[in-house]
Amino acid sequence: MSEFIRKDGRKYDELRPIKIEAGVLERADGSAYLEFGGNKILVAVYGPRESYIRRLLKPNTGVIRCRYNMAPFSVDDRKRPGPDRRSSEISKITADALRPALMLENYPRSMIDVYIEVIEAEGGTRCAGITAASVALVDAGIPMKDIVVGCAAGKVDDEVVLDLSEYEDKEGQADIPIAIMPRTGEITLLQSDGDLTEEEFQKAIDLAMEGCLKVSELQKEALMKKYSTEQ
Ligand code: UDP
Repeated sequence: MSEFIRKDGRKYDELRPIKIEAGVLERADGSAYLEFGGNKILVAVYGPRESYIRRLLKPNTGVIRCRYNMAPFSVDDRKRPGPDRRSSEISKITADALRPALMLENYPRSMIDVYIEVIEAEGGTRCAGITAASVALVDAGIPMKDIVVGCAAGKVDDEVVLDLSEYEDKEGQADIPIAIMPRTGEITLLQSDGDLTEEEFQKAIDLAMEGCLKVSELQKEALMKKYSTEQ
């Protein structure tokens, strides 16, 4: 198992190179830029604020709204601009993954907006988007129980591997993106696409959890870098 080398030269438990920067946009309340392998993702956060879409506000709690969007030039075949089924699904699961970390009950009748712009995509954008969004939420000064982090594992060439590239996502047998709150290990996103035995599934979850903990360190480093130099 540990001898297995992937098409891009990675070991089974190796992440792609990752770069995270906090606070990259002047006009947003919070922002982050993330590179995760070939993924390039920019996130802007606004709020908590009043919204002009009054029907979305709730009297007893705040609301988080996420918009995941892929630029037309972010993938090999031009992506048709505007929302589609996939982006609506990812927007929803992103809000669901981040919500448990937010203390929304403290912000009745307000809205937190999270805009995730995928500038280049190379597999694993939903996890990368959640990871970047969480850094941007911290950058916006929004109190959170934890910094949510995402990472996928899957099955390629009958091996359970960490962090699928686009090629592995397309050619592989299974993809399991997860997001967690690293302090407690609580899972806030779990999706599963493909065929795995029970044992492989457990192995993939363990591997994705380990991946999340490694990425979590990089989120904290990015925030420390931004806030320790500004003092
Ligand atoms: N992709 C693409 N065109 C699209 C949507 C996705 O080429 O319209 C690519 C992109 O690289 C993406 C990958 O397929 O990262 C896997 O997409 P999936 O739906 O599995 O979501 P992701 O792995 O990005 O969370």
